Amino acid sequence: MTVVKPGGIIGIIGGGQLGRMLAMAAARLGLKTCIYSDEPHVPAFQVTPLQAHAAYDDRANLAGFAQLCDVITFEFENLPAEELSYLAGLRTLRPGPRALETTQDRLTEKSFVQSLGLATAPFFDIASADEAAQALKTLGGRGILKTRRLGYDGKGQAKISSADDAARALLQFKGAPAILEGFVDFAFEASVVAARGAGGEFAAYDPPENIHENHILRRSIVPGRLTPAQSHQAKVIAKTIAEALDYVGVLAVELFVMKDGALLVNEIAPRVHNSGHWTLEACACSQFEQHIRAVAGWPLGDPTRHADAVMENVIGAEADAWESLARSGALHLYGKREARLGRKMGHVTRLKPKS
Ligand code: AMP
Repeated sequence: MTVVKPGGIIGIIGGGQLGRMLAMAAARLGLKTCIYSDEPHVPAFQVTPLQAHAAYDDRANLAGFAQLCDVITFEFENLPAEELSYLAGLRTLRPGPRALETTQDRLTEKSFVQSLGLATAPFFDIASADEAAQALKTLGGRGILKTRRLGYDGKGQAKISSADDAARALLQFKGAPAILEGFVDFAFEASVVAARGAGGEFAAYDPPENIHENHILRRSIVPGRLTPAQSHQAKVIAKTIAEALDYVGVLAVELFVMKDGALLVNEIAPRVHNSGHWTLEACACSQFEQHIRAVAGWPLGDPTRHADAVMENVIGAEADAWESLARSGALHLYGKREARLGRKMGHVTRLKPKS
């Protein structure tokens, strides 16, 4: 089993805020990180001198990067499958290529989740407007059409309630393969962030309730409205998924909590997750440190929560109010140069004594 000792280098594919917070956590443990990003001015480049700026399919640069690193991990999960297997031939990847390939495609992901006996929204593989119209009937006339790959924060998604809507959305997707999901009338949304170590040990954080606005996470609240039984069930779901994928690292499972109390799996993120940012202040070991520990082959840290927390994202121009935000709680700003509409610029976590 690969163990990265202090002084060793962890390669991180992707240079956004998740990579930045992973690099900062690694530094605390005396580990170095090398960031690989296809964009020049990314948040993670500001916190580590070891960096590669090259395309995600640039094999010469990927090979140089792999040679420098002791182990490679991801904060960006959409590396093409061919590049994933190429990298896997050069260095230990944690999580492994199978976890990424399974979760990159909504159809493969949902079929995998169902094969574990876990519930999801009903879904159909859609290749044409006719198929979408047919599936819509089965779903009672309402659904969400989603591209199978590369969708996030509501991108590549369209609410559908007629055959015309479906045809229009498919045109917008420019022929990208899609699935049609039944519209879920959930009570609220939640997620569970958990880790599996290189030796198979497992640790899960308390699952927060998540509030979305315009498809973007607005806030995570812990404890939220989940009952103790639902919190336990969410952790069991994460463990079932992590074990089936032989997963190493932190993963997040997004959940719909139904009015009858049932939990449906919406999506698996094979990485640290926005709904786990509160663990930086409210837990002995944050999700970022936990991921670094897992991929470095170290013992996992203690995920116990010692405070109640509300994490709120700072989106777009909201970052202009940094002074009052800094007064209001634990402020994290990601160092992004431009506050574009809908862009996550930072987050604030506010703690209260544990209830
Ligand atoms: P996703 O990209 O699949 O995580 O979807 C983003 C957000 O859209 C979710 O967090 C939900 O708020 C909403 N959403 C996605 N799928 C469904 C669904 N089948 N039914 C109702 N809302 C959904």
